[in-house]
Amino acid sequence: MLDVVTFGESMVLFSPERPGRLRHVHTYSKQLGGAESNVAIGLSRLGVRAGWFSKLGRDEFGYYIQSAIQGEGVDTSRVLFDEQAPTGLYLKEYVREGMVNVMYYRHMSAASQMSPSDLDESYIASAKILHITGITPALSSSCAETVEAAIDIARHHGVKIVFDPNIRLKLFRSKEEARAVLREIADKSDIVLAGKGEGEVLTGDTDVQEIASEFHRTGVKTVVIKMEDKGAYYSSDAEKGMVEAFSVKQVIDPVGAGDGFAAGFLASLLREEGLKQAVKAGNAVGAMMVQSYGDMEGLPTWDELEEFLNKVNDTEQ
Ligand code: ATP
Repeated sequence: MLDVVTFGESMVLFSPERPGRLRHVHTYSKQLGGAESNVAIGLSRLGVRAGWFSKLGRDEFGYYIQSAIQGEGVDTSRVLFDEQAPTGLYLKEYVREGMVNVMYYRHMSAASQMSPSDLDESYIASAKILHITGITPALSSSCAETVEAAIDIARHHGVKIVFDPNIRLKLFRSKEEARAVLREIADKSDIVLAGKGEGEVLTGDTDVQEIASEFHRTGVKTVVIKMEDKGAYYSSDAEKGMVEAFSVKQVIDPVGAGDGFAAGFLASLLREEGLKQAVKAGNAVGAMMVQSYGDMEGLPTWDELEEFLNKVNDTEQ
């Protein structure tokens, strides 16, 4: 029995060992990256039973990714290997502190070959939550069909769907295409966790309350709009409001804040702490993430999260 199942492409990340343009950088460290596996690892560190799957290349990087994610306590029993297509790669460029460029080498990767027949219905049905991001349907038409099929399975078995649009415009032909594809998924979801800019793209509204209302109008029960250093707005039938962000002295790497938010938010929600407290936990993990290098290294354990929250409470008193 799992609490959360998620799936999507994870790649090997080559992270430069010093700041500067990549043409001047000669050494890199090998790390792991991928929005869904970041969320799964974040959940696992927070004590949630999480499963992640994807299609990896049958190559050294594929083996590395599976063992690294498994080593974090995430269930990887449904991971598949493609005999021909390679594992995707990406690189980061730390132009200067707080400014990070990301370059992908993922076209025709193993993950983009995922298809509905790769889904294990009973595995998805065994979870309380299916977590999906808008990256997966943008990888290929068979990945889009896989997302659709996973949503159908989840709905059929009463598994809650949590959707983070994670819009990567480079992966779509146009903004209009991104809006059409991602809005359809959002409308079938129970919870939407969107960045404010993403909410604007998907609804055409600019005000957070209007963005949330537009999602509610099409049946989304809970909407959370993430707003970087301003925190997050939440809205459901029962309650709505704003939770301020935690103050951060120095943003080292903003990548992964949204995934950290999702992990903190879902872990708290699964502990039945209530929507507002879940948003606070999401904000806390987001703030911890921006203060550390790497996409997942800064993800805290539950004790570390509590310690962070207690410290903030102490300074506020
Ligand atoms: P990503 O770039 O990872 O996709 P996102 O757009 O999904 O991120 P953000 O709003 O950037 O989401 O960040 C998620 C959460 O992390 C925010 O709601 C906030 O709580 C926290 N956060 C992000 N940046 C900062 C910051 N500079 N200071 C404090 N908290 C932050």
